[in-house]
Amino acid sequence: MKANLPPVAVHNVHKTYRRGGIATPVLQGVNLVVGHGRCAVLTGPSGSGKSTLLSILGTMLSPDQGSVRIAGHDLGRLDAAARTRLRRELIGFVFQRFELLRGLSALDNVAVPLALRRMPQRAAQKRAAEALAAVGLADKLHSHPRHLSAGQCQRVALARALAGEPELILADEPTASLDEQHGLELMGLLRRLTAEQGRTAVIVTHDPRILRFADVVYRLAHGRLETAERPRASLISAAEEVLT
Ligand code: ADP
Ligand code: MG
Repeated sequence: MKANLPPVAVHNVHKTYRRGGIATPVLQGVNLVVGHGRCAVLTGPSGSGKSTLLSILGTMLSPDQGSVRIAGHDLGRLDAAARTRLRRELIGFVFQRFELLRGLSALDNVAVPLALRRMPQRAAQKRAAEALAAVGLADKLHSHPRHLSAGQCQRVALARALAGEPELILADEPTASLDEQHGLELMGLLRRLTAEQGRTAVIVTHDPRILRFADVVYRLAHGRLETAERPRASLISAAEEVLT
């Protein structure tokens, strides 16, 4: 890992979807730098390209133009296998619909990405148990997702994202499937754990309640990112309000 380089550095990224002769320009010159340990929130109207940008940061989608560096690695210079390796080793994902494997316990769901990185099984299970304890689910290790609430499922997903000790957490609408209380609780946990562990986070949301958890807020509009209003409450008071 290239420690002194920013976890995210995006320069002049363009992306147009083309389907059946119809071109949909989405990103039209996006620039973004997120420094180590920062929490950046990307907001903007539905269809503005937030998920597209997050997929590009997550190496799942390539831009048409421009450069993307994750922890100093220029994605445009990596082949598919190297991008997959980078994704597994440096990035943890949280999705709107949790994306847990229904046939597996909470513990095994968290251990799967560790196994993909060839961590020995005992070590992976131990790490997974610790990650679940950190999100308050020490008593649910062997529960299957169908026996967990939505809030608990998203906490399993957060544990899964953090267990690999990634440089970067990417979350796409992480509270959209949760009610207000559980959404705030999830964000408080995400913010506290990423701060404690020195992780960097990019969170996409159109939920205005999330803005106060951010160090910096950007708004995507007309294919470009602009700096938006600063969050009103500090991270700590927002997290404490929810967690105490
Ligand atoms: P957001 O996450 O901000 O709602 P998206 O990045 O999902 O926005 O989508 C941006 C625009 O690109 C929308 O107009 C959407 O319909 C279009 N789009 C997204 N994915 C595809 C795709 N795979 N093929 C064609 N158009 C797409
Ligand atoms: Mg989206």
